[in-house]
Amino acid sequence: MAIKNHILGFPRIGLHRELKFALEDYWSNKITLHDLLNIGKKIRYSNWKSQIDSGLDCVTVGDFAWYDHVLNISMMINNIPSRHQIDKEKLNLDTLFRIARGSKSIKKNCSASEMTKWFNTNYHYIVPEFVHNQEFCFSWKQILEETDEALSLGYTVKPVLLGPITYLWLGKVKGIHFNKLDLLEKIIPIYQEVLAELSKRQVKWIQIDEPILVLDLPKRWKQSFVYTYKKIYTNKIKILLATYFGDIHHNMDIVNILPVNGLHIDLVAGKYDLMKLDDDFNKKFLLSLGVINGRNIWKADLLNWFTQLKFFMKLRKTFWISTSCSLLHTPLDLSLENNLTDFVKSWFSFSIQKCLELSILSRVLNNKLHIEEIHQWIKPIDAYKSSNIINNIAVQKRILQISPDQIKRNSNFTIRSKIQKLNLNLPILPTTTIGSFPQTSDIRKLRIDYKNKKISQLDYDTSIKEHIKNNILQQEKLGLDVLVHGEPERNDMVEYFSEYLEGFVFTQYGWVQSYGSRCVKPPIIVGDISRITPITVMWSKFAQTLTNKPIKAMLTGPVTILCWSFPREDISKENIAKQIALALRDEVLDLENAGINIIQIDEPALREGLPLRKYDWNDYLSWAVKSFQLCSSVVKDSTQIHTHMCYCEFNDIMSSIVDLDVDVITIETSRSDMELLEFFKTFKYPNDIGPGVYDIHSPNIPSINWIEQLLIKALKYIPIQQLWVNPDCGLKTRTWTETSLALQNMITATMNIRKKFFKK
Ligand code: GLN
Ligand code: ZN
Repeated sequence: MAIKNHILGFPRIGLHRELKFALEDYWSNKITLHDLLNIGKKIRYSNWKSQIDSGLDCVTVGDFAWYDHVLNISMMINNIPSRHQIDKEKLNLDTLFRIARGSKSIKKNCSASEMTKWFNTNYHYIVPEFVHNQEFCFSWKQILEETDEALSLGYTVKPVLLGPITYLWLGKVKGIHFNKLDLLEKIIPIYQEVLAELSKRQVKWIQIDEPILVLDLPKRWKQSFVYTYKKIYTNKIKILLATYFGDIHHNMDIVNILPVNGLHIDLVAGKYDLMKLDDDFNKKFLLSLGVINGRNIWKADLLNWFTQLKFFMKLRKTFWISTSCSLLHTPLDLSLENNLTDFVKSWFSFSIQKCLELSILSRVLNNKLHIEEIHQWIKPIDAYKSSNIINNIAVQKRILQISPDQIKRNSNFTIRSKIQKLNLNLPILPTTTIGSFPQTSDIRKLRIDYKNKKISQLDYDTSIKEHIKNNILQQEKLGLDVLVHGEPERNDMVEYFSEYLEGFVFTQYGWVQSYGSRCVKPPIIVGDISRITPITVMWSKFAQTLTNKPIKAMLTGPVTILCWSFPREDISKENIAKQIALALRDEVLDLENAGINIIQIDEPALREGLPLRKYDWNDYLSWAVKSFQLCSSVVKDSTQIHTHMCYCEFNDIMSSIVDLDVDVITIETSRSDMELLEFFKTFKYPNDIGPGVYDIHSPNIPSINWIEQLLIKALKYIPIQQLWVNPDCGLKTRTWTETSLALQNMITATMNIRKKFFKK
């Protein structure tokens, strides 16, 4: 057959999140290692079977991970941070879990390795740590064992490994500073060893992922590709170099001279001209064309691909077709969904259906299947486009009528700030929190019972009000200045809002791995978005009746709602963000009319939505900022707008953060010992700012002295009139004991600093 198909990787969490539950049971000693290993094996077997049953030509092996695929490489090359090692212990799964999760046992007390976002996805990997003069060896042979496993089942196997250069790029140097690229030479021999072992097993192809080829690479990094692949290359096994999440035009000069046998490119995220590909790429490469989107859940337009690929067949006798990237970012199986109507369901494809799409497409191209199959497959796409579920003329009209004055506050910050200070009457260094208070098992049970209709609306509302009452009481006792209702009614900051908005649908089992055992179930944006009723107003209003202190209302911003959902693809992201923004704008106005004087619009995903290449940043930042302002600018000067951001490097986007023109930003900094503040030495943030003074992700209680020191440090860079005091993120994952003790210390520290200031 001329055209073959394959995928770059498959989800590993299991059809019913078996891996998640098994891991968590193993960590809490409820199952044995033997049980855990068995569950992993079952998942792999079932994944391979699904791939073959769907009609793929080979199974992809090595995409399974007990926690994370970057960590797999750390284990493979024996890159174990010394704090995670135990004397004479042979590498085992517990070592792996210690790196990922830290450990508090008597044998070993150590903190986890850092975790960060995998390119521009919502998946998090464990950041490799490198130290000076480090040595490596081939110590963890999971890749070989799993290859043997799949071979013994009679499959045609294509193993996949993350490439050495991307691996190094993703890691961090600890201790003495050096160029991590210097370590390449020591890592290459391990890849050579793996390739030699695989070739002994008669494996024909190995896929090596080097997604950094889509980035803007420094010269030395770019050149290291030639050096590395010359060394790794062997005539005993063929290398398919896989790139994804963007195009590689800017690195083509290097790519085209690499001694590899095949090249995978992402035709969904990358801007390629299929008609020119044959000229663009080295004719010796077998091209693998990523045509099926691995990042979204929409059915593929197979007819469009068929037409283009049919043409491409005239240029190249043979090539492969594939998913754009690994299917790690897509839920597993659409057929599990019972709550979606058949009509809506017919618009989507999850991982298993995407394998089927590849199989249909390749078989029709190879004349093994009639084109009618493709026509049948795409019928729902046409039905979707003309469906009245997705079109809302009123929303579309409103988008067209957005005017510049709708995205600008009435007065500038100096004027607003004076009015707000008079109005709110807050002390210097006002204290506040980020929104959520502990989500106890009681609260979670309450929400589940309500969802399953086990309790009435009235009972639910009454109980939520009790929780709000308690939150207010606790905050008053602690002496916070700006109070919140505590978000007991919210499961997740995006799902909660989208459930109240027209234009979204929800799956029951559409889980996607976020990190380790954690999964998220992103809502799906299918149509024009509008608000049906006020969402949060009732709760904030109720909270305000309980206290004389100002209540800060809490909303999730448009960019975050967009980033953490599966977006529709028939209109631009900018358009979707603006639709969400208009819906939230109405909510903001309703809150203000209900007597709320402070409104926080969270945008933790603002940085994460940033395109991978600098070239595309301005465009994104411009519409992202405008969307935010479209929600926030509707208020009077006297209403104070806050935003909150976390989990990211802000320095790159600081000028856009300034452009948001919020009155107050609360921002995560405490984990990096307020590293961010250094930035304010040279960059004067013009409005009020609350750099988080303690890390809510840790159960440790910050001491009064620690917080005081941080505040003193912050005051070096930020004028006291502009500084707020708050934790670095929401408190929902903490217990009440931890929360009260930590906030108590935060408030005492603030009082101490206030006293010092007044003495002067
Ligand atoms: N308001 C949200 C909370 O406190 C913010 C969450 C976040 O920043 N991720 O939970
Ligand atoms: Zn946060």
